[in-house]
Amino acid sequence: MSHPFEYKVIYSSRKTIAIQVTREGQVLVRSPKSCTRSYIDTFVSQNENWVLKHLSRIKETESQKEKAGICPQPPLSEKDRARYMKIARDIFARKTEYYARIMDISYGRISIREQKTRWGSCSSKGNLNFNWRLILAPEEVLDYVVVHELAHRREMNHSKAFYAIVESVLPDYRSARKWLRDNGQTLWETV
Ligand SMILES: [Zn+2]
Repeated sequence: MSHPFEYKVIYSSRKTIAIQVTREGQVLVRSPKSCTRSYIDTFVSQNENWVLKHLSRIKETESQKEKAGICPQPPLSEKDRARYMKIARDIFARKTEYYARIMDISYGRISIREQKTRWGSCSSKGNLNFNWRLILAPEEVLDYVVVHELAHRREMNHSKAFYAIVESVLPDYRSARKWLRDNGQTLWETV
């Protein structure tokens, strides 16, 4: 007798025969030692539909796992990354110029980077770095990072005096800062 699946028989000192579909999709028949092969085969035939139903459920669960997003998205191509960085350079140059004028602060070079752990930085010489992925965030978040780095030209720390400078330019800076803390990681998932 043939079946639409393979199965394995495990003999033991048990009194009854039972069929089982494992999580890995293996079909096992647990049988008393006294059962003949043809009896087992008939038993399997009688339970074929039950086995098929469970095997198909296992396949469904597997495909659902993939649907839930285990498949990684293709990595960003170098060409696309370069394109985003150029856009970011234009945006940050414009915003830095705008806010530096309001704050009456000078600055050096602007560099666009992609650092997992940094949104922006300001060197002692006044050179500014910005993470290009910020262009995927709401605009007030970019404004906050620009003002934050410019404020470091006055205060190289995160003291009350530092945040007073930020607040004088962006009274709502706290919500942008919170957005970045709560959602910053998503900027790596969009593209
Ligand atoms: Zn800072």
